[in-house]
Amino acid sequence: MSHPATILIVDDNENNIDVLMEFLESYEVLVSLSGEQALELLKSQTVDLVLLDVMMPHMDGYEVCTQLKNNPKTASIPVIFITAKHDPDSIEKAFDVGGSDYISKPFKPKELQARVRTQIELKRLIQELTVLATKDTMTHLWNRRSFFQKAQEALTQAKQHATPLCAMMLDLDHFKRINDTYGHDVGDEVIRTFAHTAQEILDTQEAVFGRIGGEEFALIVPMELHTCAALAEQIRTAVASIEHIKTLSIGFTVSIGIALWDNQEDVDTLLKRADEKLYSIKKGTRNAVAY
Ligand code: GH3
Ligand code: MG
Ligand code: MG
Repeated sequence: MSHPATILIVDDNENNIDVLMEFLESYEVLVSLSGEQALELLKSQTVDLVLLDVMMPHMDGYEVCTQLKNNPKTASIPVIFITAKHDPDSIEKAFDVGGSDYISKPFKPKELQARVRTQIELKRLIQELTVLATKDTMTHLWNRRSFFQKAQEALTQAKQHATPLCAMMLDLDHFKRINDTYGHDVGDEVIRTFAHTAQEILDTQEAVFGRIGGEEFALIVPMELHTCAALAEQIRTAVASIEHIKTLSIGFTVSIGIALWDNQEDVDTLLKRADEKLYSIKKGTRNAVAY
């Protein structure tokens, strides 16, 4: 079984907290005695679910939930309200501010545990589905569809901030030969090794990096043409220096085409220009960068 989920209990009444903790023994539990404390704690802690008291001094549960949902970092954490109020308006408000469910005091252990379990399972499923829908399962890079979405967002950002932006098209050289010589599984491992090698170099960059085809990758990065060319050269050299795939002695190379965004064109047009540069290398020696 995977590690237990982490639940944050926010309640100004310590007796309530004690009771809740007793019912939630199978989880990792964190505690805050005020809304302010909870928001502070969530800046540094990862939490799977928040159990939130409605009535607290200074900042009530509704306000805490509103702030959580307005912050992209915490917006996806489900919130279950704990309330002594049973009137329709209070319950409606709990949902209006983004609550996922509510539990009435006094607590009924089975109900509490079932509602908690449901929210945690739902969150895990959504997380898994999001990864499946957006990431390439072989390399964990953005898949084609997400790459184009993220790339468009990067273009919009660059326009807003008037910053330069470049696109790279990266394609492994003579990859078919690797498959033909060593088999498809080794070919897959070469693809993974390439992705990992490039990503380590891109670690500190604000890059959007995706696998857009079999052994074709694309990259969007907010920088000038010459800086981008140097980055591409770094990737190309790192790849060319690889000598082993698992225990096999295999080397391979990558060709990279680069285009500087003209501030107007869409992602497709920009990538097409980078692809034309790439094609110019593919007609020649390969293992090179063109811009
Ligand atoms: P070039 O230097 O011109 O790019 O030649 P190439 O052989 O790399 O390019 P080509 O497009 O002719 O062949 C790409 C090959 O990649 C063909 C395809 O079978 C293989 N391929 C595509 N996706 C995968 C994959 O996920 N795993 C493996 N092992 N092979 C793949
Ligand atoms: Mg290729
Ligand atoms: Mg290809």
